[in-house]
Amino acid sequence: MTAPTVRTTEGIQIEGKTLEQLRTRLRGALLLSGDPGYDEARSIWNAMIDRRPALIARCLGVADVLAGVNFAREHGLPLSIKGGGHNIAGLAVCDGGLMLDLSLMRGVWVDPAVRAARAQPGCLLGDVDRETQLHGLAAVLGFVSNTGIAGLTLGGGFGYLTRRFGWTCDNLLSIEVVSADGRLVRASEKENADLFWGLRGGGGNFGVVTNFEYQLYPVGPEVIGGAIAWRGEDAPKVLEMYRTVSEEAAPEFNCVAVLRLAPPAPWLPKEIHGKPIIALFVCHTGPLDQAERQVAPIKAFGAPVGDILQRRTYVSQQSLLDATQPKGRRYYWKSEYLPKLEPELLAKSIEHAGRIVSPHSAIVLFPLGGALNRLPEEHSPAGNREATSVLNITASWEKAEDDQTNIEWARAAWRDMRGFSTGGTYVNFLTEEEGDERIHSAYGKNYQRLVEIKTKWDPQNLFRINKNIKR
Ligand SMILES: Cc1cc2nc3c(=O)[nH]c(=O)nc-3n(C[C@H](O)[C@H](O)[C@H](O)COP(=O)(O)OP(=O)(O)OC[C@H]3O[C@@H](n4cnc5c(N)ncnc54)[C@H](O)[C@@H]3O)c2cc1C
Repeated sequence: MTAPTVRTTEGIQIEGKTLEQLRTRLRGALLLSGDPGYDEARSIWNAMIDRRPALIARCLGVADVLAGVNFAREHGLPLSIKGGGHNIAGLAVCDGGLMLDLSLMRGVWVDPAVRAARAQPGCLLGDVDRETQLHGLAAVLGFVSNTGIAGLTLGGGFGYLTRRFGWTCDNLLSIEVVSADGRLVRASEKENADLFWGLRGGGGNFGVVTNFEYQLYPVGPEVIGGAIAWRGEDAPKVLEMYRTVSEEAAPEFNCVAVLRLAPPAPWLPKEIHGKPIIALFVCHTGPLDQAERQVAPIKAFGAPVGDILQRRTYVSQQSLLDATQPKGRRYYWKSEYLPKLEPELLAKSIEHAGRIVSPHSAIVLFPLGGALNRLPEEHSPAGNREATSVLNITASWEKAEDDQTNIEWARAAWRDMRGFSTGGTYVNFLTEEEGDERIHSAYGKNYQRLVEIKTKWDPQNLFRINKNIKR
């Protein structure tokens, strides 16, 4: 049976015959609305986003990506790229265009001799960790194992190894990209160096990445890590300790502070569930005896209500936060980079955590600093080299009728705390409504060079469903 004619939201009509041609060029499936698997493929982590692509190509390899890019360009179709589908703004999915779903491309190849790994763009962080850890190696990735590597790496990327080795994108060796004009190109310090620079923070603006090559480092397989929590009323003292420890810490030590209502997690006693807590998620990737000594004062601090800070595998450390961020809830974030942890900011974090309206929301302080601060600002567009922490106000709830209250909680907290920002913000944490002004804040003085690279590599702005670099 010939496929029906498809009409896009931009009024473009694609005849069934043309669709059949695309179908024969693809090894993976081509899905239209109503096809089995269509709704699953278009669904992403943030349930606030409900978009309907006219076509979904479930790519199985580079040739599929190439066919998809060429088709979108030739037919003037909006084109979106789905890696892990974790972007808060829902940039993976377009309305009425072609979505290239890369989530089936999850191969990882490790070369322990040169401490490097190549990974396909549908990989989740956990895919890469599992393979690299077989060799006692790790790439610099993020804190939640089911996040996509593609969006994370292309926007910067930070996690438990960032203070030792910089942004994820600082640790890229090479990238393979399908360009807007349908060529498969390699980018590295030596080949297409301008494109390589742009892709290390500039997001999906320049092409579709089909392969990432990461530098790896010896890590684990065991680390000292885990979580430790205290009652909400202890937050002022715990955050003061957190501030001192963070300022003096070795780059091997990483600690995330979370203010929220206690979830019903098995490591927290029942009587505390639903009550305010402050939790620290700690990971020390240095030698185990040294790590144990350095986390001892945290374990001995005050009267924790739960403590699973111990020797554990790096892989298990990487998934500790997963359960708090399930796919399918409604999410809204506000975020800023911080030059330092000012006592007044910490006090305001406690105050706004006290006004949380959903049991899933949190105010989170992520550590940066260390190696990230040592590179010059223009090293890559991810920039923001003066930041030592990221403040993320994360609203998370279940019902659409609660949207306004939860969004307003996050916005009010942000309005009150944004004065402590470096002036920069993380492009990967920008929500749907955060446009040009915030994109400029994310890139600062690196923006102009991104414009030049965009002009050269994507003059027609084929890749525009992203935090777009405007010419
Ligand atoms: C629960 C959770 C935890 C997170 N934790 C961290 C963290 O610890 N550290 C951190 O740095 N960030 C973190 N993030 C933010 C994360 O970096 C972004 O959400 C990122 O977009 C996720 O990548 P993805 O592949 O899942 O994105 P997707 O939603 O699939 O894609 C987002 C955008 O990335 C671009 N893109 C994706 N794939 C490609 C490709 N192959 N080629 C070109 N462009 C592409 C496209 O522009 C696309 O529109 C977290 C996000 C979530 C939801």
